Amino acid sequence: MSTVIGTTGLVKRYGRLRAVDGIDLDVRAGDVYGFLGANGSGKTTTVRMLLGLVLPTAGEVRLLGEPMPKAARRVLPRVGALVEGPAHYGHLSGRANLALVDAAGPGGSRRTRRARIESVLEQVGLAGVGRKPTRAYSLGMRQRLGLAAALLRRPELLVLDEPTNGLDPQGITEIRDLLLQLNREGTTVFLSSHLLAEVEQMCTRIGVLDRGRLVLQDELARLTAPTGATVVETAEPDRVRAALDGRVLSVAAGRAVVRGADPAEVNAALVAAGVPVRGLALERPSLEEVVLAAARTSADRVDAPGERGRR
Ligand code: ATP
Repeated sequence: MSTVIGTTGLVKRYGRLRAVDGIDLDVRAGDVYGFLGANGSGKTTTVRMLLGLVLPTAGEVRLLGEPMPKAARRVLPRVGALVEGPAHYGHLSGRANLALVDAAGPGGSRRTRRARIESVLEQVGLAGVGRKPTRAYSLGMRQRLGLAAALLRRPELLVLDEPTNGLDPQGITEIRDLLLQLNREGTTVFLSSHLLAEVEQMCTRIGVLDRGRLVLQDELARLTAPTGATVVETAEPDRVRAALDGRVLSVAAGRAVVRGADPAEVNAALVAAGVPVRGLALERPSLEEVVLAAARTSADRVDAPGERGRR
């Protein structure tokens, strides 16, 4: 898989604060990459550096194989971007704003502009919005318009900073479905988010930023792979312990976790012992558990706590 976004030792310092502290991102063609981090962890600063909107203090950015910001004029036409607070002319309609974006971009004839605009408005669910000036748009509508602008050039790569910000649950589902569809059609998607559930539902690969550092980067499927244990749902978890002596890893209300990755075998042993079983499943860590563990490991490093601004 070729690397679509690659950074090495990327740093952004604001005075004494290392807002981004030496990160090596690796986003590959075909990924839906979720860039996770708490508020203030450095996501927006990173996204801005990827797009050449902020200059790194140190390190390198390669976008679609080319160095940024040096190759910005060549690369950015192939990238659709949505960064925090998309800017629109408030007195103009959504269509008029998109016409300006389209006219400013390279390629694409004027003749087909109207069709291009209608198509992206349709994609983001704004087709029926009419002539309303964008200053009367809700936050969610503005976000959709920003996404429409990002889609105008049929980009190979989408870089989106908190794309579902301000959307209601239905809007979030629509945007998620749209991004997944674009990804199926070949677009690599990089999105930042502070919402674990959102990322867990749609991303193939994740990176976790914690106080400016990338504490985790891997395939989601690998991170949440089965642990080798089986979760038994039962009204009588203590009897599981009696029946499978030595294999029970933990017992809680209504469930017991048993060593062994063959639920059928566990079930047979419990049925033979007369233990009532309601359900069986392979144990998998949730993304939340994975992320918390990575953040803990990083906080345990002697150089991590409180040192961020001082080196
Ligand atoms: P959020 O989700 O709240 O947008 P974030 O993860 O995107 O957070 P950043 O906006 O990248 O985080 O900010 C990272 C840190 O850098 C914060 O402590 C922020 O205050 C600081 N920072 C960002 N931009 C600047 C700037 N222009 N000058 C000084 N400090 C800044």
